[in-house]
Amino acid sequence: MGIIRRLSPAVINQIAAGEVVERPASVVKELLENAIDAGATRIDVTVERGGKDLIRVADDGKGMAPEDLPLAFQPHATSKLAEADDLFRIATLGFRGEALAAIAEVAKVRCQTRRADAAEGSELVVEGGVSGEVQTCGGPPGTVIEVRNLFFNTPVRRTFLKSDSTEAGHVADAFWRVALAQPTVHLTYRSGGKVVHDLPAATGVKDRIAVALGNELADSLLWIESRVDTTHLWGYVAHPSQSRSSSKGQYLFVGGRYVRDRSLGHALSEAYRGLLMVGRAPVAFLHLDLPPEEVDVNIHPAKIEVRFRDSQRIYSLLLSTVRQTFLASDLHARLQAPASTSAHAASPAGPSEPNRDDTRGGFGLSEGTSQRQEVATWFPPGTTPGFQTYPAPGYAGGPASSDWGRPLPSGPSRAWNPSFDEFAPVASADSRVSPPPTVEPEDVSPHPEADAPATAPASVAEAVLTRGGPLKALQVHDSYLVAETNDGMVVIDQHALHERILYEELRLRMERGGVESQRLLVPEPVDLTAAEAAVVLEQREALARLGLEIEPFGGDTVLVASVPAMLKGVAADRLLRDLAEHFRSEPLPPSRDKLLEDLLHMVACKAAVKAGQRLSPDEIGALLERRHLVSNSHHCPHGRPTALIFTKAELERQFGRI
Ligand code: ADP
Ligand code: MG
Repeated sequence: MGIIRRLSPAVINQIAAGEVVERPASVVKELLENAIDAGATRIDVTVERGGKDLIRVADDGKGMAPEDLPLAFQPHATSKLAEADDLFRIATLGFRGEALAAIAEVAKVRCQTRRADAAEGSELVVEGGVSGEVQTCGGPPGTVIEVRNLFFNTPVRRTFLKSDSTEAGHVADAFWRVALAQPTVHLTYRSGGKVVHDLPAATGVKDRIAVALGNELADSLLWIESRVDTTHLWGYVAHPSQSRSSSKGQYLFVGGRYVRDRSLGHALSEAYRGLLMVGRAPVAFLHLDLPPEEVDVNIHPAKIEVRFRDSQRIYSLLLSTVRQTFLASDLHARLQAPASTSAHAASPAGPSEPNRDDTRGGFGLSEGTSQRQEVATWFPPGTTPGFQTYPAPGYAGGPASSDWGRPLPSGPSRAWNPSFDEFAPVASADSRVSPPPTVEPEDVSPHPEADAPATAPASVAEAVLTRGGPLKALQVHDSYLVAETNDGMVVIDQHALHERILYEELRLRMERGGVESQRLLVPEPVDLTAAEAAVVLEQREALARLGLEIEPFGGDTVLVASVPAMLKGVAADRLLRDLAEHFRSEPLPPSRDKLLEDLLHMVACKAAVKAGQRLSPDEIGALLERRHLVSNSHHCPHGRPTALIFTKAELERQFGRI
């Protein structure tokens, strides 16, 4: 007997619902999109328990006629598409006619709607896919949809949901994606009975960005725009000083739809190449408007990815537009911007946003400063169109994105040793596993006692490294240390080495009972987004073990009471934002050990000397003295080598001596 059978409509619908509705935020996204498609100028979003108990979206859009209301909840019923060809001319956010059906399949939904010309409204309740009768009701023109008890009939899926605050964070993300795409729409967001955001219709995208991500970021924005044939790219990119540790600050809207695109994310990273520290990602708000037939929006269940007909052209357009904007701007002058030139002064919404000169004025431009020179050399104007040499779209690399650390470097052309230890090849195995007794908790930053007596294992390494005499290395490009070894020479990445040393020191201290923390005289309030606040507060206990004590302070503000002593110079808000980005980019809730290890890496990375930082001879000495802490048993935090070794034999071979 055959074993293949047709699934029942109920199962089919639940499968379809699974693709559209992953979590409360997916519902919010679909309902917001419907409201925008209905021409709303005001939309109110309310959630309870992160949207698990209630999601309510009310709009003042065109509403539905009573006879359309039951159809709206039928799968594959839409007013936005009539024939197959229309799929390639989509100008609305929705088009598949499946969202309302999918939502009503897995929740209890009530919809009230009224067209402006109708005397009264109509109401429909659909629970778990079972529809009631259309009733009449009162109410203003527009549509209100209430979604209660999401996944009430699929309990397993309900257990997949995260904590209320985490889900509320995802809802806030969905809300902001629409808010940033549609600045002329008045939007409000209520959660837990409070108004979290009230965003009056803005005159420009920049005003919204200022509310979403703060004035400092908004003040640093550079307007970009270019139009080639029917393709129009416009928006803002942030000054390189406003980077993030992941690609979370990157918004790309294609025809007003928020999309993710690895290739364009990569183009953006390329445009910032040389302007950001490794491991940092740019912040950008980019809009791409092109004829509907140039882009296929029907390739992803949640419509969050699109396919371009000519993706290479768009990659090149983005890269060259951002680069040319940098070339024309004086990136250096930003800090001298006169306070009076408010960079987020009212500007019109949409493509005609500010003119370039406004923006330049806002950055207090003066021609020909050193930074400008630097950028110009890094990308000579004459070669601007020659971006064919950059990886094509679809390039596997992509931006650092969810990667917490820096991307892996392109493979070194020289032989290198993955372990710093190996540049002291005769150090005994014992010396690697047992750190010397000189490791004191205070001993956390490069210190001047370069001539302090070396401990036994260190002196073994030193003998190999220096052949007697004081430990010396030459710093080149303020980033690398070059030293002679018995067997040749070694080039050390100062940041990578310091980071590893600090990591080992921190780990030891954790094992011995705690990392030193510094209590702030006055606890510092840090304003975060709802999502950021939720994730950092969720990890409060682990953070406290590292000396970072935080507590909720009402709204999305988090109070920082103490910071790890090593990081007292690092701005608390940046630290918390980076942490939030890290936690949120993790695909799974990390185990406790993994979490602590990640945090140690992060603290070490932040506290370590940076590439580009000039070190005094004493500091170089101190750094090299502590290199014995980096043992074989622990991999470099980011899998990068800390040193490259050139043997004498190899040098001689290269110079044709042997
Ligand atoms: P889609 O948006 O893909 O058409 P949906 O299931 O989201 O599919 O919605 C089905 C139909 O219901 C839409 O085509 C639209 O005509 C109508 N509709 C849904 N939400 C609203 C709303 N907020 N205002 C007016 N009409 C709406
Ligand atoms: Mg829709």
